Amino acid sequence: MTRFIAAKKQFGQNFLQDEAVIEAIFSAFAIQKGERILEIGPGRGALTQHLLKSGALLDVVEIDNDLIAYLQQRYPQLQQHIHHKDALTFSLTELNLAQNKVRIIGNLPYNISTPLLFHLLAQKDHIADMLFMLQQEVIDRLAAQPGCKAYGRLSVMVQLQCKVQALFSVPPQAFKPQPKVMSKIVYLVPYEKPLYVVTSMVVLEDILRDAFNQRRKTIQNSLKTYFNAEELTALGLDPKMRAEQMSVEQWVKLANAVA
Ligand code: SAM
Repeated sequence: MTRFIAAKKQFGQNFLQDEAVIEAIFSAFAIQKGERILEIGPGRGALTQHLLKSGALLDVVEIDNDLIAYLQQRYPQLQQHIHHKDALTFSLTELNLAQNKVRIIGNLPYNISTPLLFHLLAQKDHIADMLFMLQQEVIDRLAAQPGCKAYGRLSVMVQLQCKVQALFSVPPQAFKPQPKVMSKIVYLVPYEKPLYVVTSMVVLEDILRDAFNQRRKTIQNSLKTYFNAEELTALGLDPKMRAEQMSVEQWVKLANAVA
């Protein structure tokens, strides 16, 4: 008999209950038999049971002791593939992928979603694609285009490395306990070859931080420690633009001019 495990707030546990949402997730992330799949945060197995039925070669990574015991009991066939680890430090090399790439799926803990995305993007050479449930507001930022309020550092850093497709929204009623926010599904496909070559990611991140921390200022003001108006014009940029108007390509151009 498996015992009931109460949801823990510190691990962002909002368990998916709605079968229609689960079906929509699986039809968006069509899984073929034999594919390598990693599920982040399997929880009580709402997605895991469907992943196992699909015939995928599944690994799961879960931080919570109680849920690890529950998963080991419920899915004895997964024994060697249940990783009791923190996804924020989990290395995909632990999956012994050889030349294969892994597909990653998860209804992610919202409290760590941004650092987790960056941790995964740093290992993107091992990743075929990713489908995640996240807080709607975060997905709106991931997918935002220049000129939108939601466009910012996260949009630029992620769109530089992945194709981003926001799919559908999921209301709080689909979970137990219910989160206080709307959720959404996002599909991310890392680019095999970089869209634009970045000389230094550190410089790019510094410039983005400086500019978006003062997003109401023109770039000639917010980036004056790097460029004057003439230098910006020489790079083909209007010094009167604001950070939220600049495309990913223009950000890379600026960063490469500093690095
Ligand atoms: N997949 C389940 C579902 O859809 O019902 C659970 C989703 S719940 C939103 C997030 C899951 O991630 C929980 O099982 C939680 O314990 C786990 N989790 C939270 N922080 C984690 C971390 N740092 N590393 C791995 N798993 C984590």
